[in-house]
Amino acid sequence: MTRYRNQRRGKPGAWMTWTAWCICCLSFASTTFAQRWEVHERLGNVELFAEFRLLPNVVAAQLESVEEELKRHLDLAQSDDAEIQVIVFKSAGSYRDYLSKRVPQALQRRAIFYRSGDQYQIYAYRHEQLLTDLRHEYTHAVLHRTLPFVPLWIDEGLAEYLEDQPERRAKSSRLRSMKWKCRTGWRPDLRHLEAIPSASRMTSNHYRDSWAWTHFLLNESDQTRMLFRDYLAAISAGGAPGTFSEWVGERDPEVVKRVGSYFRRLQISLR
Ligand SMILES: [Zn+2]
Repeated sequence: MTRYRNQRRGKPGAWMTWTAWCICCLSFASTTFAQRWEVHERLGNVELFAEFRLLPNVVAAQLESVEEELKRHLDLAQSDDAEIQVIVFKSAGSYRDYLSKRVPQALQRRAIFYRSGDQYQIYAYRHEQLLTDLRHEYTHAVLHRTLPFVPLWIDEGLAEYLEDQPERRAKSSRLRSMKWKCRTGWRPDLRHLEAIPSASRMTSNHYRDSWAWTHFLLNESDQTRMLFRDYLAAISAGGAPGTFSEWVGERDPEVVKRVGSYFRRLQISLR
């Protein structure tokens, strides 16, 4: 990951409670609403704002792709009244200028997801990885819109996994790196990930390992995918299933040992 990406993933966390301001109550002090937003469209449950001529159907296709995978793999579906605002600025300068007055702690990030009560918002700006950023932050939004709480490593693991468009995942540099590391017998430590107290403590290696566990659970077998799905269903039902490692340990303790061999096998199959 580049330093820039790490900055986005790092401080101050995957999402934050935000009570000071919402887009609906802004007067956009020096400009009118119509002057500021070249695009203002509703795309199903998403309300899109953009400062430039961003094609709504292109954004919609990416967000729908994320939702489709969450539904297909994990049976996670938002309710019909779930609304998420996506606000895209024309430049990093415009994005920072806008947020500096309201959320200064977000200035080092390339894109952010904010939640304020029942309001869910994503902020990003135009650059070549914009759609990747929107997929990442939208994953956070759907998870938090759907589940009463989201374990940190699952929150970031799914966002990191789904930010790549499906057809590009097999060529991921991170995948090659993980395959190489697992050749030595190393494997990502799930219990270590589960012990991270907050997003502000996550390092780039933690993001990588959260992604790796997500990749493993979604793709290794029907068994791993169902364990993952059932764990999230328990959270969705309001239960307290404990950590995922405990959950898996009660059902099949051998599963956690297979994560290394999963990536080693991919090393061969993807050549
Ligand atoms: Zn994130």
